[in-house]
Amino acid sequence: MSLHQLNRIIWVILLTAHSVVAQKSYLLRPDRIFDGQEIHENWVVLVVNDKITAVGEAKSIVVATASPKPEIIDLKGCTLLPGFIEGHSHLFLHPYNETTWDDQVLKEARSLRTSRAVVHAKKTLMAGFTTVRDLGTEGAEFDDVGLKQAIQQGIIPGPRMIIATKALIATGSYAPKGFSTDVTVPQGAEEADGRDPLIRAVRNQIGKGADVIKIYADYRWGLMGEARPTFLIDEIKLMVETAQSSGRPVIAHAGSAEGMRRAILGGCETLEHGDAGTPEIFALMKEKGVALCPTLAAGDAITQYRGWKKGIEPEPERIKNKRKTFKEALDAGVTICFGGDVGVFTHGDNAREMEMMVDYGMKPLDVLRSATSVNARVFHQEQLGQIKTGFLADLVAVEGRPDVRISDVRNVKLVIKNGEIQH
Ligand SMILES: [Zn+2]
Repeated sequence: MSLHQLNRIIWVILLTAHSVVAQKSYLLRPDRIFDGQEIHENWVVLVVNDKITAVGEAKSIVVATASPKPEIIDLKGCTLLPGFIEGHSHLFLHPYNETTWDDQVLKEARSLRTSRAVVHAKKTLMAGFTTVRDLGTEGAEFDDVGLKQAIQQGIIPGPRMIIATKALIATGSYAPKGFSTDVTVPQGAEEADGRDPLIRAVRNQIGKGADVIKIYADYRWGLMGEARPTFLIDEIKLMVETAQSSGRPVIAHAGSAEGMRRAILGGCETLEHGDAGTPEIFALMKEKGVALCPTLAAGDAITQYRGWKKGIEPEPERIKNKRKTFKEALDAGVTICFGGDVGVFTHGDNAREMEMMVDYGMKPLDVLRSATSVNARVFHQEQLGQIKTGFLADLVAVEGRPDVRISDVRNVKLVIKNGEIQH
């Protein structure tokens, strides 16, 4: 058989396969669209299979629609947005006021934790969060790999997952802590130090399925239990170089100014938390193009778990300080990712972080940008985060105007992922 004949046969097979796959098409008609950047009144969106194939004023689109005939979905009173992208989740954790973090890591079977994660995934998706960057299983080994596969294969409903697997910590720096020195307790992430072990650990996590390498640039291991840097700057550079060879970014948990400085100069792409950032540190982040994922809701939740009666008692120092440093980051023009560290608080309640971002000084429209187009860009998801022709059809319709009143993101009426309506 000649190459020409072979090509011809392949074409026939492809055409046949194509014709038997039913095309699915929706024309979505909300009151307005937030396209990831701006609000547009009276626009409609055409979805064919898993893609957005047209966006704009109704007239211009209906003309272009011959075949297949789309199912019309009216979304009266609704705003249609790109599916939200949660920037910092832990699907393998549940709120610490239910079970402490230590007890989750040490006492809960991985089968139990996975069962919970399956439920968390569905709750997240149905709240309109069609993608999550899940930053570490916290002791549940590589179980996020299987969870991600189960979602991809349509076995269970859930968001697209960008996963970090185990995350990396410097030996002795992380937790659980406080046990007899004679026993070795499981850790919430993988310990590794120095040139060869770090290279091997990064590559092993990549090999098992990590999309992103998460490191802890500091942790509460100071003499007084304060956050202090962990990895040396050369170690961070080494992990970044190793991960980058495979096209993967490194991101860092960093709360202290020095931990943040090392993570920035070491080449990390986003910093998580950043509570003790200073104007100098935020200026450096801006200069190097490093984004901040502020996790405001986590600090707010933990402070309440420790006894603060929010709304009744005055704001404790930790909260006041977080407001101050978040404002400094905004003033410095640092790119702000949306990510709440959800898992510390209830999965599906991801909107809590959006509300807090507004409460701490961001405009609702900027928060919506952060949770869609900004996170997509920062997380290298080129086909997500915007309602634009050619983009993947991950969409959420909410009743009301979240660009005016952010809490309206909670009024979810419709979730579409990959062009499929989620139930
Ligand atoms: Zn976290």
